[in-house]
Amino acid sequence: MDYIMTENGACIDVEQITNIIKTNGVQNDADWMAIILFVRNLLTKLTVYTEEKKAEIQREICTQLAQKDFSDTHLETIIAMLDMYIMQNIGSLELEEALAQEKRSAALLLNEMNDIVASMQGSHERHQSKLDSFKDETVSVIEECNKKSLIISKVREMFQGLIVEFQEEARALNEKAQQFEQTANFDPLLTDLHNRRALEIFLQAAAMEYENTGEPLSMMMIDVDHFKTVNDTCGHQAGDDVLRALAHIITAHAIQYSGFAARYGGEELVIIMKGLTQEMASIKAEAIRADVENYDFRIRTDGQLAEHSLRFTVSIGVAEMHKGWNAGSLVGAADKAMYQAKNTGRNQVRRAPEIS
Ligand code: GH3
Ligand code: MG
Ligand code: MG
Repeated sequence: MDYIMTENGACIDVEQITNIIKTNGVQNDADWMAIILFVRNLLTKLTVYTEEKKAEIQREICTQLAQKDFSDTHLETIIAMLDMYIMQNIGSLELEEALAQEKRSAALLLNEMNDIVASMQGSHERHQSKLDSFKDETVSVIEECNKKSLIISKVREMFQGLIVEFQEEARALNEKAQQFEQTANFDPLLTDLHNRRALEIFLQAAAMEYENTGEPLSMMMIDVDHFKTVNDTCGHQAGDDVLRALAHIITAHAIQYSGFAARYGGEELVIIMKGLTQEMASIKAEAIRADVENYDFRIRTDGQLAEHSLRFTVSIGVAEMHKGWNAGSLVGAADKAMYQAKNTGRNQVRRAPEIS
């Protein structure tokens, strides 16, 4: 049961109000019942009002109803109050606030993406013009309707239509933002992996963090062994599929220790590992190496999987950040270690030399 506090602190039970209406013989009066239904049921479903605002409207209207005055003049007073709430409170302030909120969260996500911000601007203007026409339509509904109870249901219908439109627009905008973020930060072929640009930004920030905190920061440089042969013998498409499989293996590992997996270039992939020493990182690298070696890769032609598996291996270089190094020094050390792994037989993990 809903209890509503009146301004003087008395407690109004909405059911009680319904009873008052019944005992005063107006239960068949559509106008009064519409007001009760609006205040008791419909109002609670409107998402644009805050709970406090809903309580305020209920309190105001119930205080009026508690006066047990069911004259036409009093009905008009109550409808005028509701008009005021619809016009003043729904009219623009809450909606503009909701739009501003959408803009803020979308703008956060898009960060420096100016073109999206521009489209948000366009959308804001469209929303503004919709709001203006909503106001005009509301006024004409009020002017044209002589049955007062229709005003509330008509305005409510228009209002809900407006909300649905805004929600759809917000959803579309959000989708666009996500796509934009995907293309801006992730590799187009190996969609699980961050691209070089995202890697550089992440690595710069991680290097600064290392300088401030001294927390270990390690990385792996992973390169497919004899990848040219895969391309030459099985075709470039099969080569792409091998890279996709490798990207899946790498992200499945990286996710376990919150590693940042990225495509450094071509068939060279990296994982940046915050909080892991070179020793720990080498253990993680060995796990990847072994998983790749044992991976049962099947070439797919026209949707059909090949009968025999194509085995491939990787060489991995591991390095840990040192005082006085920058992001480039770390990448250089991991790259050098990777080439050592290549030069001493491939399909193995090599660490950068320890620095004391
Ligand atoms: P190594 O063991 O010394 O690494 O031998 P490798 O044949 O793998 O030599 P390298 O790493 O220098 O060769 C990289 C090859 O990877 C060359 C290039 O054609 C191929 N490659 C680079 N990017 C892609 C890609 O996106 N798709 C495919 N299919 N091949 C690529
Ligand atoms: Mg290479
Ligand atoms: Mg290679």
